[in-house]
Amino acid sequence: MEVTISNIRKEFDLYPALHDVSLNIRSGELIALLGPSGSGKTTLLRLIAGLEHPTAGQIFFGNEDASNRTVQERNVGFVFQHYALFRHMTVADNIAFGLTVRPRATRPAKAEIRRRAAELLDMVHLSGLEKRYPNQLSGGQRQRVALARAMAIEPKVLLLDEPFGALDAQVRKELRRWLREFHDRTGHTTVFVTHDQEEALELADRVVVMSQGKIEQVGSADDVYDTPNSAFVFSFIGSSASLPVERRDGMVFFQDQPIGLATDATGPAQLFFRPQDVALTSEGAALSGKVTASRRLAGARIAEIDVGNDGNAHHIEIEVPLDAVATLGSEIRFRPTRWEQFAS
Ligand code: ADP
Ligand code: MG
Repeated sequence: MEVTISNIRKEFDLYPALHDVSLNIRSGELIALLGPSGSGKTTLLRLIAGLEHPTAGQIFFGNEDASNRTVQERNVGFVFQHYALFRHMTVADNIAFGLTVRPRATRPAKAEIRRRAAELLDMVHLSGLEKRYPNQLSGGQRQRVALARAMAIEPKVLLLDEPFGALDAQVRKELRRWLREFHDRTGHTTVFVTHDQEEALELADRVVVMSQGKIEQVGSADDVYDTPNSAFVFSFIGSSASLPVERRDGMVFFQDQPIGLATDATGPAQLFFRPQDVALTSEGAALSGKVTASRRLAGARIAEIDVGNDGNAHHIEIEVPLDAVATLGSEIRFRPTRWEQFAS
């Protein structure tokens, strides 16, 4: 099912949680909504579900305007971060719940419900656990039961709100791979909310980067990491260093010194680069920083440096070769090899 979000605004008591958000989610796509806490991810998910209604704008399921459809009519499946399975129900009954509460006319027969629950349990690799209660499962198993339960109603769209957020890092990583594989097998249109960039980049076909109720960028993991289109996306995804610069006469200046970078742009900007995208140099115009700390990586070293005049220095991190001199107080001269500038 394709989902189209068209010029959505959402206000809570005049507080705008979403401003003019538009997004097309392709049928069968696994899309991640990625952004810091408060950026509007859950609100967008709840609007898709029909748990909230937009102040303005429309939501289409396929070609049909679903804006006024109820949650049931939209037929979406949900999993939340702190998903409360029914404690007094077995795993099988939890999974079957969405089917057993259907009106009689559309409710499958008991034997059919049992068969479907067993099938779903198999799909989430938990066969044999149907008689267990939630407190007899690990956190990761519980989230897989929650997913099976969301799938039981044969949803058109699967909505997952930080489903692994409460689990420890190792289990999260396993479930992430498992979810990707599960998605590839079942092919449901899936919207996955996370504030964890690594999770979004690894899992999703496309990543929707959100900040302050707006979509900043939509693209593949490569797009948002390699060609971030704003200062926010550059600094939110991956490690980055940033310095205020001035552009004039075809050159980039930092604190009135040319730093060996050419540009056609003019005016003040913020210069961004990744710690690994620098080359040390002893000649010509370059940036220069004083080492304040350093730490070892497997094949390189991270140097923390103060760049700029005393009293107005900027603290950044760059990656240097293991044989580079990075003792405390030493001077490192370097130029970014890949960089972006965003007018400020
Ligand atoms: P996220 O999921 O990205 O952390 P949310 O969508 O939960 O962000 O929230 C976006 C903004 O909307 C936040 O500032 C939040 O406080 C506000 N908000 C969300 N739900 C409500 C609500 N029911 N009433 C008032 N404000 C809300
Ligand atoms: Mg949220």
